[in-house]
Amino acid sequence: MRIVAIVRRELRLHDNPLWQGANEHEIVPLFVLDDFNQREHGDNLRTLFFFALNELRKQIASLGGHLYCIHTSQQEAFFDTVKPDLVRFCEDHEPHSRERDENLVRSLARMGIRYEILRDSTLTPMPEKPFATFTQFYKRHFLPSLQREDIGSYPTPKRFNTPKVVFPEITIPQVSSEAAKKWCISEAKVANRWRRYVQHHLPFYEHTRNFLTENSSSQMSPYIRCGLISLRQLCRDALEISETFVRELAWHDFYAHLLHHFPETTTLEWRTEWRGFSWRHDERDFERWCEGKTGFPIVDAAMRQLNQEGWMPNRTRMIVASFLTKNLRIDWRWGERYFYRHLVDADLAQNVGNWQWVAGCGADAAPYFRIFNPLLQARKFDPQGEYIRQFVSELSHVPTEALFDLTQLRQHAPDYPPPILDLKTARTEFQTTINEHLKRGGDALQDKL
Ligand SMILES: Cc1cc2nc3c(=O)[nH]c(=O)nc-3n(C[C@H](O)[C@H](O)[C@H](O)COP(=O)(O)OP(=O)(O)OC[C@H]3O[C@@H](n4cnc5c(N)ncnc54)[C@H](O)[C@@H]3O)c2cc1C
Repeated sequence: MRIVAIVRRELRLHDNPLWQGANEHEIVPLFVLDDFNQREHGDNLRTLFFFALNELRKQIASLGGHLYCIHTSQQEAFFDTVKPDLVRFCEDHEPHSRERDENLVRSLARMGIRYEILRDSTLTPMPEKPFATFTQFYKRHFLPSLQREDIGSYPTPKRFNTPKVVFPEITIPQVSSEAAKKWCISEAKVANRWRRYVQHHLPFYEHTRNFLTENSSSQMSPYIRCGLISLRQLCRDALEISETFVRELAWHDFYAHLLHHFPETTTLEWRTEWRGFSWRHDERDFERWCEGKTGFPIVDAAMRQLNQEGWMPNRTRMIVASFLTKNLRIDWRWGERYFYRHLVDADLAQNVGNWQWVAGCGADAAPYFRIFNPLLQARKFDPQGEYIRQFVSELSHVPTEALFDLTQLRQHAPDYPPPILDLKTARTEFQTTINEHLKRGGDALQDKL
C-alpha cells in the first residue's frame, strides 16, 4: 500500500502514529506549507519549527526515505502524481486547521482517495460534549479515557520505503531568531533532556513547579508544540512519578477541548456576560508592559525573558497576564496576541484558554476579584531575587528586600523605570468597573452546555 503521511506538528520519528506500517508499506512523508500559519506564527516558533523540520527530513533520508515539501496550492497535483491508496494526517483543533482539513477531505473524496485521521496533539479523544470545569473534565473524561486508551508507544520506523516521484518541491523557509537558539532542535537531544528531568527533578515537581529557577518545571512545552516529543511518552513516564505533572498534561487537553467546542473564543470571552467589557486600549501602557518597563521587577523580568528567550514559566505567565488585564485593565486579546507572536511554544488553544482563565472571563477561570500582587508573588516564588536579577540587569546590584518593596527600590535604583501604576488604586478601579459591568448584565450568559 502507498500511504501519504502529512506531517504537521509531529516532527519526530519515535512514537509517531504517522509512521505506522512503515516497515511494510510505501510511506510518502509530506509537509505542506500553509500561508496562513506563516503569517500568524512568530519568528521564534517558526525558527524552532523549521529547524526541527529540516532535522526530521535528514533523519528520514538516513533511513532511505524522502520528506516532500510542497505548498498548499500544489496538494491536489501532488496526490495526482503520487497516486496514494491512503492519505493520513493528525487532527488539529484550531479553527483555521479544521477548515483546511475539511477542504482536504473534500478534495480527497473528489479524487477517490481514502483518508485516515489520527490523534497526536492530545492524550485523550475529544469528548462529544464540552465540560465547563477542569475538575469535571479531569474526573469524568481525562482519567477514564487514559485508562481506556492505549498510550503505549508506536514503533519507530527502521527504514522508509518512499517511492521516487518527480515533483517541483519548495525549499523549507529559513527563519532565524536569537530567542529560539536556546532550544534543542533534535528529538534525540529533547529525549535526553526529558530523561534527565525525569530522573533528577520530576519526583519534586509538585513542590518546585511554581518557582522560577531552572528545572523547576520541565520546559517541554516548545517540544510538545512542535511534536519533538510525544505527549504519550511524557504521560507514560510521569504516571508512576508525579500525579501533578499528569494533571498539568490534562490542562493541555482541557484547553484543546475548549477550543474545539468554542472556536469563537479565540476572540470572544468564553463567559458571555463579560463580552462588551470596557477593556482599556492604551498603547503607551501596553508598550511598557511589552518591553518590560512597568517598574514592577517581576513583571519586567518575565517580559524581558519572553523577549529574549521566547519562553517564560507558567507562574510568571500568570503574573504578567494578571498585571496586564486586572491592574492595567488592558484587553486580554492584546496580551494574547503578543504572547502568541513571541512564545516559542505558542499554541492557540493553550494561549487563549490560559489568557481568559487569568483575566477571569474563561472557563473555570480564576475569580475576577483574585488579583495577583506582583510584589508578593515575587517574594514568594523568587525569594532570593535571582530570576529578577537575571533578566533586569539594572537591578543586579539591588539588595533582595528592595526587589519586593517599591519605596526601597527607588532609593537603590533611581534609573529603573518608576511604577506604571499604584497597585491599590488599580485594583479598586478594576473591581468597580467589572462589578458595574456584570451588574448591568453584560450580554446575558447563555446556557452553553
Ligand atoms: C497567559 C498564559 C499563556 C500561556 N500560553 C501558552 C502557550 O501558548 N503554549 C503552551 O504550551 N502553554 C501556554 N501556557 C501554559 C503554561 O504556562 C505552559 O504550558 C508551561 O509554562 C510550559 O512550561 P513547562 O513545559 O515547563 O511546563 P510543566 O510545568 O513542566 O508542565 C508540563 C506540561 O503540562 C502542560 N501544562 C502545564 N501548565 C499548563 C497550563 N497552565 N495550561 C495548559 N497546559 C499546561 C504543558 O503542556 C507543559 O509543557 C500559558 C499559560 C498562561 C498563564
